[in-house]
Amino acid sequence: MDKNYTYRDRHVELDTDKQFRLGEGKISGYCSVFLGVLSLLAVIAYLFPSYLTTNELRNLYDAAVLQNVLKYGMYFSLLFGFITFYLKRYRLMGAVGISLTSCAFLLGGYTVPVGPVEAKRLSLGVDWLILAFLGSVFIFLALEKLWPRYKNQVILRSGWGLDLFYFCFNHLAISAVLVYANYHVSHFDWALSASLQESIQSMPVLLQFLLVVLSADFVLYWEHRLYHEVKWLWPIHAVHHSVENLDWLAGSRGHFIQVFSERAMVMVPLYLLGVDETALNIYVAFAALQAVLIHCNTNLPFGYLKYIIVTPQFHHWHHSSEKPAIDTNYSAHTILFDWLFNTMHLPKKHWPAEYGTTKKLPESFIGQTLYPVTSQLKNSKSETHQ
Ligand SMILES: [Zn+2]
Ligand SMILES: [Zn+2]
Repeated sequence: MDKNYTYRDRHVELDTDKQFRLGEGKISGYCSVFLGVLSLLAVIAYLFPSYLTTNELRNLYDAAVLQNVLKYGMYFSLLFGFITFYLKRYRLMGAVGISLTSCAFLLGGYTVPVGPVEAKRLSLGVDWLILAFLGSVFIFLALEKLWPRYKNQVILRSGWGLDLFYFCFNHLAISAVLVYANYHVSHFDWALSASLQESIQSMPVLLQFLLVVLSADFVLYWEHRLYHEVKWLWPIHAVHHSVENLDWLAGSRGHFIQVFSERAMVMVPLYLLGVDETALNIYVAFAALQAVLIHCNTNLPFGYLKYIIVTPQFHHWHHSSEKPAIDTNYSAHTILFDWLFNTMHLPKKHWPAEYGTTKKLPESFIGQTLYPVTSQLKNSKSETHQ
């Protein structure tokens, strides 16, 4: 805590135009459209699983069981569509939702047979996108409604469309990310030690999990710190920091170079340690959930846990543009390395009053993707004009 700094409360104005209110048809309209889109995508993924599902993920779920989920998704999309029609004001959304689901039915619906899948090296992670979206909405949106940090912040806050695009892009690219990460990790074969891996595998699963968490955290801490402190790397990471309203979707905003490099780097300790598959799966689930949770607009009380693991308050400070918080809280899982290397900023009960970057970034996907180049060009131009 910086004793010379006056912490302020953040005031969020309620945007009544974008607010969801019961009985208007807006909630049912959005539910119908989103379920319609997901249903159609799911049916197409069932038709072309080699190209539209993820090799690594297919081993973890039962495609036949998920057809039941698809069935309910399709019926609920239709139900919400008809409710929207009945409530009149958002009829168009109802029509779109019903049309999308009808297309899904015409393509075979939830009865498309689940056949053997020919594994392709590269595919689009449509299955990963659908599962992550549904899981996030059920877990994190519920959390934000039950324990909101900023009660007036609406779901459709500014920039939500852009972040949804990032969410889709980064989830669809999962197989390309994994192919790149596996290629990157193969450069570390020289450091593999069978005896080390054997002794690690003889440890209890919980201990193996803790070992993975700490070693991944160490790598992620330093990678993150470099993105902040190396001048030419910052514009890549600035994309993630350009979001000004944090919620479950905000963490998805990230330049593809950052997404690829982060996965590739974190894979190195996981590969070298060679932990048991159970410990690895627990870690992957923990890391995926924590990455969304720490961006959530939630006040969920963590008690003393907030001095052990990275919580929303800790990571919200990382996204603050206020002076005492700049270049602090780099850790992803535990607060250990920020504490050890003196980069921690967690002022008791205070939360940031301002979020985002001090310099504004473009607001489009293309503009942000090109930002690492355009910002350098701008800098060199301003230097030659001086
Ligand atoms: Zn950062
Ligand atoms: Zn973040």
